[in-house]
Amino acid sequence: MSNIQHPKSNMGDNLMEKIVSLCKRRGFVFPGSEIYGGLANAWDYGPYGVLLKNNIKAAWWQKFVLDRDDMVGLDAALLMNTKVYEASGHLKEFSDPLVECKACHERFRADQIDITAPCPACRKGQLTEAKQFNLMLKTFLGPVESPESVVYFRPETAQGIFVNFKNLTDTMRLKLPFGVGQIGKAFRNEITPGNFIFRTREFEQMEVEYFFAPDDDWKNIFENWQKIMHSWIDDLGLNAEQIHEVDVEDGQRAHYSQKTIDFEYDFPFGRKELFGLAYRTNFDLKNHNLNYTTDDGQKIIPHCIEPSLGVDRSMLALLCSAYTEEELENDTRIVLKLPIKLAPIKVAIFPLLKNKPPLVELAKNIFHDLKKSFVCEFDDNGNVGKRYRRQDEIGTPFCITIDFDSLEKQTVTVRERDTMKQEIIEIEKLKDYLTKKLQ
Ligand code: ATP
Repeated sequence: MSNIQHPKSNMGDNLMEKIVSLCKRRGFVFPGSEIYGGLANAWDYGPYGVLLKNNIKAAWWQKFVLDRDDMVGLDAALLMNTKVYEASGHLKEFSDPLVECKACHERFRADQIDITAPCPACRKGQLTEAKQFNLMLKTFLGPVESPESVVYFRPETAQGIFVNFKNLTDTMRLKLPFGVGQIGKAFRNEITPGNFIFRTREFEQMEVEYFFAPDDDWKNIFENWQKIMHSWIDDLGLNAEQIHEVDVEDGQRAHYSQKTIDFEYDFPFGRKELFGLAYRTNFDLKNHNLNYTTDDGQKIIPHCIEPSLGVDRSMLALLCSAYTEEELENDTRIVLKLPIKLAPIKVAIFPLLKNKPPLVELAKNIFHDLKKSFVCEFDDNGNVGKRYRRQDEIGTPFCITIDFDSLEKQTVTVRERDTMKQEIIEIEKLKDYLTKKLQ
């Protein structure tokens, strides 16, 4: 269970603005191609954004792959033979319904608005009939731009797993049921990207394809993965009350799915999909002409369940849940109450004054020593109060100040992010103290 307290939702509609601003100000996420006027809905992850995203991915990999006896990992190429997407049905079916305003020509996803009402943008124009718009992002390989050189960026990581099914079973002695986990980029030419990193055209997914025999009880396997997703939501420190599981209706599911549960989250801009869990049957392996030989020599086509999670959406939900404003006596403190395990920086080390060489030298020694065990940051910029605020805003659980007592008594002051409580700790016991606290 996580030990995170949830922020009171008293920040109103501008929570997103505050998060976007904090992300830019503090080096989590920058607008893409900014010095050239930007590229709509493209974002670059800055130093703390990379650390946070890597921590999310590492925690996912640990839970969904390494901690289990029935999982292996894969890292397949982003570009694949176009025949993969002919077989998987993506070229034909991977589309969203698009409507366009006849007056202002703004485009919308027909499943996200009331298509009988006037245009939501100009509030005047009528909307066209919905037509299917394929989301596959196209490019050309090689020097000639011809129909033969067209390839598609993968719209999900999953196909890389399916097409390697034989390689995986041959090389890894895998016995059903087993799963394959993969983390990587996916690309979709979204009609309505937006809401910061929620919906972009380039994003990262963490996916499992879990294979089992056709006569296994798929409902049971589905429910097990549903429980693992609940536990993951808890690991992220998200409030379970803000998660809503929606059984997606017939006709609304992806072309390959017989059952899908969308895990929706109460984002500041509304309740939206965070993750998905789908029963893909044997759709993909069958279409790729792949099978599995049982111990008694029978050829079967395994079925498959897919928990699919977005890295960027996980990070956004995490930021929304962790962002906290606390009223102090004559100040407001902004704190990212991130789960300790996911915080980008674990320990910040401050010399009290930067113009006192013995203090700086001792602080640097402590920093270099702790750095071997934890992700640390050295900060000697501005007064200590300001440094605390900065670390609070990036969610650093512990700040250590090296002062004159440190020189005399070999002690430091350790300040904890959430309680702001300070403790005096002997330098020689510091590493053990932090190891226990950071576990
Ligand atoms: P939506 O209905 O929001 O378009 P989807 O149902 O098409 O999502 P899936 O195909 O189930 O999404 O993809 C699995 C996961 O990948 C999603 O739950 C989400 O976390 C992430 N994801 C999908 N599309 C995007 C995107 N454009 N930007 C960021 N993350 C995405």
